Amino acid sequence: MDLLNKFYKYVGQTSTDPAGIEITRAEGVHLYDNTGKDYIDLIAGISVCNMGHSNPLIIKAVQEQAAKYMHLMAYGEIVQEPQVELATLLCNHLPESLNSVFFVNSGSEAVEGGLKLAKRVTGRKELIHFNKSYHGATNGSLSVMGNDNFKKSFQPLLPEIKEIEFGKMDDIEQITEKTAGIIVELIQGEGGIRISNSEYWQALRKRCTEKGALLIVDEIQTGFGRTGTLFAFEHYGIVPDILLVAKAFGGGMPLGAFISSKEYMNELTHDPALGHITTFGGHPVCCAAGLAHLKLIIDNKMWKVPQRLGVKLEDTFKQIPTLKEIRRCGFMMALDFYDTDYCVHLLKRFFKAGLFSDWFLFCDSALRIAPPLILEEKDLTEIKKRLQFVEF
Ligand code: PMP
Repeated sequence: MDLLNKFYKYVGQTSTDPAGIEITRAEGVHLYDNTGKDYIDLIAGISVCNMGHSNPLIIKAVQEQAAKYMHLMAYGEIVQEPQVELATLLCNHLPESLNSVFFVNSGSEAVEGGLKLAKRVTGRKELIHFNKSYHGATNGSLSVMGNDNFKKSFQPLLPEIKEIEFGKMDDIEQITEKTAGIIVELIQGEGGIRISNSEYWQALRKRCTEKGALLIVDEIQTGFGRTGTLFAFEHYGIVPDILLVAKAFGGGMPLGAFISSKEYMNELTHDPALGHITTFGGHPVCCAAGLAHLKLIIDNKMWKVPQRLGVKLEDTFKQIPTLKEIRRCGFMMALDFYDTDYCVHLLKRFFKAGLFSDWFLFCDSALRIAPPLILEEKDLTEIKKRLQFVEF
């Protein structure tokens, strides 16, 4: 049986029609399939591979750490250098109050940790989220998802959850003394790149402070340079109480974290002790990869690339005759065609032309463009060339 048939037979599927492309190798901004065809990666593994694929320094860090030690002990009890150095480097580039990193394995787990911490710190139960929010697929993170269609088959979920409308100023009043925390994506990813403004975010921050509710900012998709700053909250002059990271955090390896003040984080050490634990969270090989990746991002100020090339990226796709709307922040972009069926066909034509894209969970009339931050002008020229072979 060939690989594709084994994939269909033995690997759990997420949809009835997976792309099924056999990728055998990836380097820089390119993916290569089993026929040798190359695709320009327009989505960076969904905002993961910010330094592109097969970066030699990340590979070296993984190999060296794997040769020293891999798993030693469940997270939290012993000192593991890659974890400590990664937490230190990250905190040194965050506001003063975000100075304690709790490592987990994924974005959903970072969300779970953040929600639990907000409840633990405030002693409250209510959690608020936005419409069209995506925070993960576990029961807790699904409870704060802003899409009923994705939730309906999995009820009951968490109680005392409230949904408010993204960007609607009046709805902020629903944050009250009962609220443990509000979880937000500053730029909604799976909602199809929805953006609000500083005035709104500052008002929301102020309301949280007044009511003693914690502001949980999910930067799982927006973090590590993608939007033109190291983190998106820098655009809006606000500081989260709890920051959630994953995706690009591990430099291509599975890694997540929730980050807060030491004072808040210490609440998880007692009553009960070990109230939040994980076997593999902060795996040393993943942390070594994440550390090499974060050093590359910081040393090369990679957030400047979307600042410099963002408009050019937009211009590259503006020529598409059937395009209805572009929404963009940095290298996070949606090409909206206002037509789901058209988009399904278009994605296949993109693949054919050697352009690797994807759509959004809650916005299937649009294609996702979120390339690695190592993208260069010559790649934009090549994308333009390939777009000429797409039938629109
Ligand atoms: N939050 C956001 C904003 C995300 O985009 C995602 C993943 N798409 C998650 C959380 C969940 O991350 P993971 O898939 O690693 O659990």
